[in-house]
Amino acid sequence: EAKSSGRDGYKIYQQIRPVKSVNKLTIIEEMRNGIETGEFILDYQPQYDLASGRIVGAEALVRWQHPQLGRLMPGEFIALAEESGLIVPLGRWVLREACRQNRAWQDAGRNPITISVNVSARQFRDAALISDVCAALEDTGMAAEFLELELTESLLVQNREQAVELMDAFRRIGIKLAIDDFGTGYSSLAALKNFPLTRLKIDRSFVRDLHVDESDRSIARAIISLGRELGLNVVAEGVETPEQQAFLASCRCDTVQGYQFGYPMDADTFGELPGMSRKPLDVRY
Ligand code: C2E
Ligand code: MG
Ligand code: MG
Ligand code: MG
Repeated sequence: EAKSSGRDGYKIYQQIRPVKSVNKLTIIEEMRNGIETGEFILDYQPQYDLASGRIVGAEALVRWQHPQLGRLMPGEFIALAEESGLIVPLGRWVLREACRQNRAWQDAGRNPITISVNVSARQFRDAALISDVCAALEDTGMAAEFLELELTESLLVQNREQAVELMDAFRRIGIKLAIDDFGTGYSSLAALKNFPLTRLKIDRSFVRDLHVDESDRSIARAIISLGRELGLNVVAEGVETPEQQAFLASCRCDTVQGYQFGYPMDADTFGELPGMSRKPLDVRY
């Protein structure tokens, strides 16, 4: 009994791990093709202002609807996209699609929110990034103030002066800039001072054990007060429980994102969230 289910389990395991067994070059070719034929989609995960309970943003998260392999998650293809350079055209599509969708929600009378887009190191080094972003905003009619780029610490320390210059250019346009997975990389406090950021995103690894781990509580508290001192918004990712939420609220963390508040979901579902409708006008005198 146990043996036969183990066998089946192994068969299934083989079936769902084809990315490993299929030729890398084949997958890269399929990815290149899939970008052109529209096999990639975005899910959106809500971000809530902790004090008011309002939806203030959404993180766009890419998925690959592969014709044979089914839905693939970023962990299964982003590394390969970076390695092959395909993250550049893929990232360009993600940016444009996220801007288009956010503008569409606004046009439909939804509550205006900021859309957060992940930018990988390889994209950030691409000389055309800023003109791609500007073109996406212009073509979709999305205002720059509703776009946030999520950057990683490693990306920022790699080529600091160039990074600051590019970030300044984004800030001049009005685009917001967050450090993703904050606390896991090597950026110094001095670096934080020099980078024109608008937000710190506390990494999930510090949020996960808040209920049991006193040092994680200290780290989370320190990041939140650091953000407050520097005038930055602080968002906690990976919030899964009311206990984590309560702790973050007690530290006056600005914003929260995680399964406790909503899983990543398709655009239509997101647009129908109660928090996305504006309050009806009060027409009484
Ligand atoms: P990330 O930017 O740190 O995104 C957060 C990840 O945590 C997402 O995984 C999200 O689904 C997951 N998550 C959200 N809330 C919770 C929670 O409460 N508990 C737990 N356990 N997980 C939660 P996902 O969608 O699989 O994305 C993984 C990573 O892939 C992202 O990490 C990001 O680094 C990368 N990624 C996703 N989309 C893009 C993209 O368009 N471009 C680039 N360059 N990278 C992307
Ligand atoms: Mg992110
Ligand atoms: Mg993150
Ligand atoms: Mg993360």
